[in-house]
Amino acid sequence: AAQAAANDTAPRLALEAVSRAFDGTAAVREVSLTVEAGEVVCLLGPSGCGKSTSLRIAAGVERQDAGRVLIDGQPVSDDRGHAPPEGRSVGLMFQDYALFPHLTVAENVAFGLRGRRARDRQAVVADYLLRVGLKGYGEKYPHQLSGGEQQRVALARALAPRPRVMLMDEPFSGLDTRLRDEVREETLSILKREGTAVLMVTHEPDEAMRMADRIALMREGRIVQVGAPYHVYNYPVDRKAAAFFSDLNIIHGVVRDRQTDTPFGLFLTPKMRDQADVEIIARPQHIKIVEDAGEGGTRPLVTPADGMPAHGRVLRARFTGAQSLIEVTMDHDGSVLKVTVPYAWLPEPGTPVWLSLRRDRCFLFPCVNQRVVE
Ligand code: ATP
Repeated sequence: AAQAAANDTAPRLALEAVSRAFDGTAAVREVSLTVEAGEVVCLLGPSGCGKSTSLRIAAGVERQDAGRVLIDGQPVSDDRGHAPPEGRSVGLMFQDYALFPHLTVAENVAFGLRGRRARDRQAVVADYLLRVGLKGYGEKYPHQLSGGEQQRVALARALAPRPRVMLMDEPFSGLDTRLRDEVREETLSILKREGTAVLMVTHEPDEAMRMADRIALMREGRIVQVGAPYHVYNYPVDRKAAAFFSDLNIIHGVVRDRQTDTPFGLFLTPKMRDQADVEIIARPQHIKIVEDAGEGGTRPLVTPADGMPAHGRVLRARFTGAQSLIEVTMDHDGSVLKVTVPYAWLPEPGTPVWLSLRRDRCFLFPCVNQRVVE
């Protein structure tokens, strides 16, 4: 009974300091992560950072060199034993886990239900086809279905055995953009309804932002940051983490008397020693731009939140549908900053403009080799 009580509070899935090397090269380094019931956690990062290997270790397709995998608080893989995928109540949706082409939709969904009585199996298959919106599709073959429908069959197949944990590796990558949005939303609502714990791999920030309750950002085999999408986007741990989500503008500054002096005014910098080099990082939508109407070059009035405006000239402007991207060459150092505005504006090259930073949205990082003083 004590065991059962402990398991109620244990996360559905836990990776504990999991590491894996291939031919002496570390692919996954001490990755620790939990996924709770009803939670979607996305492993996000560039190609080769170890996302798939981490997921495959969770699935049991791959075995870690060190660390443990637990489901409901019970070790399913540690240095004493290793349960295969079919022995650990996981549902798998991998890119290469396609439907069996020679089996009907119903037979595909029934695949994970072997060992159950035929009548039960039929009822479960019918139930899950209904849940994914494919009632009446049971006798069709995969090639008779659209990409989105096939994806939903794959989801039904993975869900039908009622796994404790769902593991998905780029599950929507085979679909074209419009369909992907639709299938993604449907899948998410089905998973939420089922209350499954989901660990999903993606290399697309946009997909992770839409799907995840928490994002685990990976780089070179390590998790460098975990948090809600809002948090990871707005409070990145470093420049690379920030750069993963959008273009960045980098503005150099120097610390003087606990403030960083930049062409855009002073930024409070309590923890840095004097003369340290600092990078202020601003996403394109966090720079304000106004046309410089005054002949005399008078600075526009700004709120304290915007800092001091700096002057530049439009290099080029493009309209991308939802927004305009304006590149500006700055007078003070010739650097080019990228600014986006959520409306159509296409100023001529050479147009004089003032830029100011939304200070509360900028990130300030010490340059490489600069120590933070506590
Ligand atoms: P992608 O998004 O491209 O799939 P990823 O983040 O999922 O990348 P992994 O597939 O986990 O990365 O790979 C991490 C590293 O481990 C890579 O350098 C990869 O080449 C290596 N690797 C993965 N699987 C194997 C394997 N079976 N044998 C040898 N090396 C491997």
